[in-house]
Amino acid sequence: MKDLIHFQNVSYAYHTLAGETLALHKINFSVARNDFVAIVGPSGCGKSTLLSLLSGLLEPEEGTITLNGEKLSSSNRCSIGYMLQKDQLFEWRSIEKNIFLGLEIRKQLTKENKEYAMTLLKTYGLYEFRHAKPSELSGGMRQRAALIRTLVLRPDLLLLDEPFSALDYQTRLNTCDDIGTILKKEKKTAVLVTHDIAEAVSLGNKVIILSKRPGTVKRIVPIDFDPALTPMERRNAAEFKNYFNTIWKELNQDV
Ligand code: ADP
Ligand code: MG
Repeated sequence: MKDLIHFQNVSYAYHTLAGETLALHKINFSVARNDFVAIVGPSGCGKSTLLSLLSGLLEPEEGTITLNGEKLSSSNRCSIGYMLQKDQLFEWRSIEKNIFLGLEIRKQLTKENKEYAMTLLKTYGLYEFRHAKPSELSGGMRQRAALIRTLVLRPDLLLLDEPFSALDYQTRLNTCDDIGTILKKEKKTAVLVTHDIAEAVSLGNKVIILSKRPGTVKRIVPIDFDPALTPMERRNAAEFKNYFNTIWKELNQDV
């Protein structure tokens, strides 16, 4: 399959008054269309920096990033959806109005897009809550609403930065299952950053293991489960433990 994004020898350092912090060093990997790439690494190793580079928010100091074979620049950026640890829903707006917000800002609140939003709300169990305020929803439902708010903008690429880490364990498992299932059904290309190995193995078709800072790619592990399995079912599959252990060992060589 043709690569959507390709990183070639990408390095990045932050420059502050206190000096230089090399965050990422000679990173190589690619993301194909419909990939779900999970990136794992210890805290502070440059995972969020990598997402900022992917989105074009930061530019590499060395190396190149290509999008569909062309150098990534402000003019050819693909449309990107972000999902973060905090859902950033506005309490003074209903769920529906929160979901419309991005469309309003882009002046794309058309009949067609509204219908698409309603379809997503129905499909993913939030239609009855469309007039509710965010505080009336559980943490998992709020993250689903945040994902729908992103999906209505029809992004080419979704970037997820530790989207479940603010949730309690049980909710976290269920939300991970929900979000993985939704993204597969909507045929999205996604890059997830996490420090949770189980999350990476249950969602990704490829796990990129980063070393501690400066982040380098230690290893890329292809993940292969029966495509019919949901993220939750993957956790119970026989191969799961092997993938988990492989990645765990690789990460702990650092410590
Ligand atoms: P991660 O997401 O893996 O925890 P980050 O990408 O946020 O790591 O950060 C990587 C390194 O770069 C860290 O050591 C962090 O302190 C440093 N860093 C991040 N953002 C900045 C910044 N704006 N200015 C200076 N240093 C930064
Ligand atoms: Mg981070």
